[in-house]
Amino acid sequence: MKSELRFQGVAVSPGIVRGTAYVYRPDEDLPPRTTIRDDQVAGEIARLQEALALTRRQIIELHDRVRESLGANDAEIFEAHLMVVEDGVLIDEVQKTLKRELCNAEHAFHTVAHRYAKSLAALEDPYFRERAADIHDISRRIVRNLLGRTTGGLSELKTPHVVIAHNLTPSDTAQIDRDIVIGFCTEAGGKTSHTAIMARSLNIPAIVGLHELLASVENGADVLVDGYSGVLIVHPSEETLSQYGALQASKAAMEMRLTELRETASTTQDGRHIILSANIEQPEDIEQAQSSGAEGVGLFRTEFLYLGREDLPSEEEQTAAYISVAAAARPHAVIIRTLDLGGDKLHDTLHTETEENPFLGWRAIRVCLERTDIFKTQLRAILRASVHGSIKIMFPMISGMPELRQAKAILEECRGELEREGVPFDREMEIGMMIEIPSAAMIADIFAKEVDFFSLGTNDLVQYTVAADRGNEHIAHLYEPTHPAVLRLIRKTVEAANAAGIWVGVCGEMGGDIVLTPLLVGLGIDELSCGSAVLPRVKRAVRSLDAAACRKLAAEALECADGSEILARCEAVARTHYGDLL
Ligand code: PEP
Ligand code: MG
Repeated sequence: MKSELRFQGVAVSPGIVRGTAYVYRPDEDLPPRTTIRDDQVAGEIARLQEALALTRRQIIELHDRVRESLGANDAEIFEAHLMVVEDGVLIDEVQKTLKRELCNAEHAFHTVAHRYAKSLAALEDPYFRERAADIHDISRRIVRNLLGRTTGGLSELKTPHVVIAHNLTPSDTAQIDRDIVIGFCTEAGGKTSHTAIMARSLNIPAIVGLHELLASVENGADVLVDGYSGVLIVHPSEETLSQYGALQASKAAMEMRLTELRETASTTQDGRHIILSANIEQPEDIEQAQSSGAEGVGLFRTEFLYLGREDLPSEEEQTAAYISVAAAARPHAVIIRTLDLGGDKLHDTLHTETEENPFLGWRAIRVCLERTDIFKTQLRAILRASVHGSIKIMFPMISGMPELRQAKAILEECRGELEREGVPFDREMEIGMMIEIPSAAMIADIFAKEVDFFSLGTNDLVQYTVAADRGNEHIAHLYEPTHPAVLRLIRKTVEAANAAGIWVGVCGEMGGDIVLTPLLVGLGIDELSCGSAVLPRVKRAVRSLDAAACRKLAAEALECADGSEILARCEAVARTHYGDLL
């Protein structure tokens, strides 16, 4: 019996799960070395040639697909990859290494390719440094082909596991099959990183911020993930397991009671109705949204249609996805947010250049206004789907008026095109924008004249207000949703919306945090949009509260100097009304 070990991290997705650990190290791709005999050399070289030919075919196919969806410029990267596969000097060196060291082809290729890349990366010229990155990329693909693996990443897992990793990207999580990845724990990451958001959306217990974890957990270890308190237990004892069995049973009973609220209204004790809608990342999430009792979709993060693949979804593919969600959500509305790639959601082909500050960089509407070809494909698809249900459109990361006006002009261009083509669409479709940058909140009164609604993206609004990266666990203590400055920006936005007669929602993670529900109701928010898993809890919270008392709480909070004091006040109210949920 190994003795039990406990690690404390930050709980980001509730639930308890026990399983076998899979330690995922995507960057450590050194293939195992095996020694071969002299008489196996020819066979090994033949295997290498086959893998090179297969890689070549894959690259050509990818090149063509990407050229079609993204254009010739973005497809250029595959031409560089092709040059690596066809580099006679490199391949010759691999063969010599294989013969000299009597080692397997994957080890020989990896060793030589990495030596090449290292010497190129050391050169001043950025051209050569880019070639080094190409060699790393293509080397991974060739080694995968030699090992007979179809893709890298978590999609290789075939049986249920708890994934242990330094970090997971949203592209990794986009590929997760929830029957296979039953829980995950990472060393890095914050509560509102997109990986954490994805875990909640998939309903997988998850913990982040578990420092030095990889050094302490071996592959295949028996682990228990407590996604409520953020504790990971390695080699749990019999006693721990029985305690957790009891806890799990009481949580399940609570969930059952919450599902009974499905058909009830999210209205406060004194009659203020708060629209409670769901955040979704994939079209199939609409099912869970509906069974949670959501009044439609408040945020469809469409970029997840683009992640985990090298090409882009076509207009047809997107139209079908949006129709499926809009039709299922009827009679309720679906707010489709246009593409928000960038930041921590990097597209394999579109984001080839490394940015110093990706969250302040080429992200969301900034990508779309530059790549209008990609933007228009999506806008046309949204418009085409709009006759199949109640669709509203929303633009992310708007920092100033020219961006909003440009986005609306491109939408108008798409409407004109569809009209000329005789394709029907909803002319009255509401247009909204996200308020997630302080500059937008500060001029919300001006924006309010140009849109039909606001949705506060508090995940970003908090990080941009307090200058604390939402995914960086080292400064997580500074990432304070109850910071007085955040409250004032929310209040400013609500006041601007009220004055212009438009509605305002919250679709960031604050919307699903039941400790903060009294504050948001008190600040005058009309709609809360959150993950389906937490939605029944938010409904219970709203139904237990009194809007007038919430307004009093908000007024007092706006006078506070310190975020932790505001948080304590919110906790006190929440505890009085629904302490059993906390
Ligand atoms: C937000 O920023 O709060 C938001 C909802 O958008 P995302 O989390 O996708 O950045
Ligand atoms: Mg955002």
